[in-house]
Amino acid sequence: MAKLYFRYGAMGSSKTANAIMVQYNYQERGQNALMLKPRLDNRDGDRTVGSRSGLNAPCRYVEELDDIDLTACDCVIVDEAQFLTKAQVQRLVDIVDNQGIPVICYGLRADFQGNLFEGSHWLMAWADSIEEIKTVCWCGRKAIMNARVANGAVVKSGEQIVLGGNESYVALCRKHWSRGELAPMEIRRISSGKETYLPLLLEADPSREMIDKYLDRGELYALMVNGRTAAVAVVLRRDDGAWELMNLAVAPDMRGRGYGGRMLRHLFKVLSARCDRLYVGTSEGNVPFYEHFGFVKDHAIKEYFTEHYDVPIIEDGRVLKDRIDLVKAL
Ligand SMILES: [Zn+2]
Repeated sequence: MAKLYFRYGAMGSSKTANAIMVQYNYQERGQNALMLKPRLDNRDGDRTVGSRSGLNAPCRYVEELDDIDLTACDCVIVDEAQFLTKAQVQRLVDIVDNQGIPVICYGLRADFQGNLFEGSHWLMAWADSIEEIKTVCWCGRKAIMNARVANGAVVKSGEQIVLGGNESYVALCRKHWSRGELAPMEIRRISSGKETYLPLLLEADPSREMIDKYLDRGELYALMVNGRTAAVAVVLRRDDGAWELMNLAVAPDMRGRGYGGRMLRHLFKVLSARCDRLYVGTSEGNVPFYEHFGFVKDHAIKEYFTEHYDVPIIEDGRVLKDRIDLVKAL
């Protein structure tokens, strides 16, 4: 017998990735799983569901259900189901009970204030099967709350849904959510909204044009201190299989506290599983910093900074000319 499933979890618990995997598994067996989401949520562009890990899949909107022929459909999957209205959940119940098609909904349980979303409320009330997808708080306890973070602080007031806002969301355990305590320090890989970090990236590389060449293809990491971005780094895989550190920037008022070094050690750990050396191209003035972390000089590119940048880059009162490339064995 077909069932209505509600699989809920906090931010970052891989709900969308799970939804995409379930759809893939149906396809593998030669069956059809229809992917839906409420139209309200348009963060991922038009008719796409996208996960933080970078997986994405095409979808239709729940609002379009009347135009979709479900006769050849073996399963309906709904992402971002917290945004469903009561009437839409009722419609999903009808699909299960009257058309015999299982419906699997993925969504958040509660909003940033700890209140149930409308969709979650009715799914909790009516689903045949309720399952939790677990994730952890920075303290190691299970994260069940979704904190809204703006300017490095947890905010507790505002609209339930803010579309296109600059806020981000962090999954916390109930204790740290109610105290508003974000991780003292953590390094996160950033897969979406990379342009938010441009002001800091421009500190290390003043050319937007150069940053555009590697930001999309590269992996961006952010070191957060009490919810604020203290340092960012971008690494890019080169054609020869080695990786290159394209950008490493520390917020001007947070320099001299070892954050650059922490970021480097994190990159060494992450990349050592994938390659045996990391390159960096930098100015003469930064060479001692990299040598301190085990990089050795490889070669120099004469007049690199004067030829690749429209305006002269001044560092310690001198115009930068040559680029020094260093390499570190991982
Ligand atoms: Zn916690």
